[in-house]
Amino acid sequence: MRSKSIVGVLFAAILALSGCTGSRGASGEPSGDQGHLFSDSLVIDTSNGKSVTAFSALDTVIGMTVYGAESENAIRDAADLIDRMDKVISTQREDSELRYLNESGNAICSEELMEAVSRGQMIGRETEGAFNIALYPVVEAWGFFSKDYRIPEAEEIEKLLMLARPEDAQKKELPSKEWSNGDEGSSVEKGIVYETEGMKIDLGGIGKGFIADKIAQMFNEDYAEGVTGAVISLGGNILCMGKKPEGKPFKVGLQDPDKGVGEYLAVITADSSSEGDLTPFSIVTSGNYERFFEVDGVKYTHIIDPETGYPVENGLASVTVTSDDSALADALTTALFVMGYDKAVEFWRSGTYDFEMALIDENGKLYLTEGLKDQVKSYVQTEVITR
Ligand code: AMP
Ligand code: MG
Repeated sequence: MRSKSIVGVLFAAILALSGCTGSRGASGEPSGDQGHLFSDSLVIDTSNGKSVTAFSALDTVIGMTVYGAESENAIRDAADLIDRMDKVISTQREDSELRYLNESGNAICSEELMEAVSRGQMIGRETEGAFNIALYPVVEAWGFFSKDYRIPEAEEIEKLLMLARPEDAQKKELPSKEWSNGDEGSSVEKGIVYETEGMKIDLGGIGKGFIADKIAQMFNEDYAEGVTGAVISLGGNILCMGKKPEGKPFKVGLQDPDKGVGEYLAVITADSSSEGDLTPFSIVTSGNYERFFEVDGVKYTHIIDPETGYPVENGLASVTVTSDDSALADALTTALFVMGYDKAVEFWRSGTYDFEMALIDENGKLYLTEGLKDQVKSYVQTEVITR
């Protein structure tokens, strides 16, 4: 059995393409110290009007390059926001809100957790179930959380699939708790109750995009003056805002699914705003090479078809979505991957959502929706998908 995890691919891409040098990696493990902010442990390289950092969080490598007079403060705030949100939506962190909800089946929840779950449910409905936030038990059975990979029996998958009912995570008013002693208080608070016993939610397919949107919002609210451009990579999830100092747009490499980490078959120019404007532009990729294992030459990837409970295997190697809405882009990469080429094209044409996409099939051919045609440079065979 062989397994591989790709980390920092696109961050490496950005560093290469934006000509950044001198970024020093730093371990971003939360210290757990009371009174210390996560960002206190970061190593940030600040020179020439920009700040650069890299650290591990969200089960991946995070890279940030921010330009402008307040770039260092902005990077620190973004790192702290990532840590805060990770404590809300992570399925694996022992101290996370979602983990508590998954273990207890009902819990008072923060606005952010309710929002992330609602968005996941909504995109699940719009994609007719291709995106399913309740697949946790199935993903777990394949070993994608523990990294102790295995092929579950068909009956096991069938049973676990019956728990994958996202609509059964329902918003309810719950009696508030007196946190000091665990007693029930007199008022009510908003929470989530699982109507199917044993169900669990996994926000792995949307969480990084959700966090990217929160960062974009924070930069627009707090750093509209102090930041002129930013490129933030949360694993395969890239958020670009503004421009580089010379007024040039950011460029992001598209990983070649058949090659080593950081080898690209195309470059996408971020369609970000004119100078001084921090409108976000997200480029999100899901690839079957990101997390997988192999048994007897068969590759089992971490994206699961909710209809069968088996890893997707449909001739696609990666799906990239561009949008100003990062949570949408994140969830759609997963959903479109599940749909496969024909249905993905149909979904794009349906106009349900406003986005563009780049599909790479297992023969290395690149397909671009027409809105991306002038933004992508590639040396491989490319076909344009029209409306
Ligand atoms: P991404 O890398 O964004 O494609 O997300 C993949 C992750 O989402 C997996 O590692 C699973 O945790 C989870 N996942 C797998 N299949 C699905 C699916 N069909 N719908 C929603 N989430 C999924
Ligand atoms: Mg996704």
